Amino acid sequence: FSIDLTGRTAIVTGASAGLGRRFAGVLAACGAKVACTARRREKLDELVDEITRDGGTAQAFDLDVRDAEQLKAIVPAVSESLGQPDILINNAGIVDAARAVKMSTELIDDVLDTNMRAAYILSCEFARPLIEQKTPGRIVNISSIAGTHYDGGGAALYSTTKAGISRITEALAVEWSRFFINVNAIAPGLFATDMSDGMTSRMGNFYEHFPRQRICQPEQMDSTLLYLLSPASECVTGTIIKVDDGQGPR
Ligand code: NDP
Repeated sequence: FSIDLTGRTAIVTGASAGLGRRFAGVLAACGAKVACTARRREKLDELVDEITRDGGTAQAFDLDVRDAEQLKAIVPAVSESLGQPDILINNAGIVDAARAVKMSTELIDDVLDTNMRAAYILSCEFARPLIEQKTPGRIVNISSIAGTHYDGGGAALYSTTKAGISRITEALAVEWSRFFINVNAIAPGLFATDMSDGMTSRMGNFYEHFPRQRICQPEQMDSTLLYLLSPASECVTGTIIKVDDGQGPR
């Protein structure tokens, strides 16, 4: 499954690992110029080398999404070197393993700022120049099936932030529909990444209880991401697509 993203510029947050790394590679393979952002510069540099070797165009940008000033600076920086971004993937996220009453206020701030505040601020920074220039754009937010259901496993605030991401998706889609900026979300089930490694090592292979007794692989999200960036989804905005292999509450 492939689409043509030639002439487009994408920002991917959390591109140093897991799903974000995969998204950056897939967008570059479709012809987009990709701004790969995260804190771990060496991982971003490796990814950019890999994309460049494969004939794509990408550049690494240091970005800690908890820092509003950095969020405000990233769109002009990308615009200057790769062209005006018209695709934004709000993917960076962390999971809190702590029970609600055991969380420090620092951890509470980290989870809220990384998972929710960053997506809101960056979406606005991304949309403002597009609105001014009357240029269409696409935003894909990475939510979670935990955004609709908290399973009691000890990540209550994570679940709260993912519910927030879903609401941000719906609200900004309404606000920006008339500017042809589509805002959608993907709500993944459990996918094999560093994040889920941490969960399975703490909780055992609980996915054996899933209907298909397996965990999904990042490449199994490719077609959903590309659909949301393609002409085929031109009229689709404010939607949250669950990609969970049937793991979620039924
Ligand atoms: P990983 O832990 O593998 O990767 C997380 C990414 O987020 C890294 O690139 C990390 O980069 C980045 N990140 C974390 N904190 C910050 C920060 N302060 N500033 C900038 N970047 C940051 O996670 P996944 O790939 O699994 O998760 C990606 C998204 O998918 C998340 O939003 C997650 O909630 C969601 N999701 C994942 C599921 C799964 O099963 N894996 C299930 C449902 C949703 P760095 O540390 O270099 O800054």
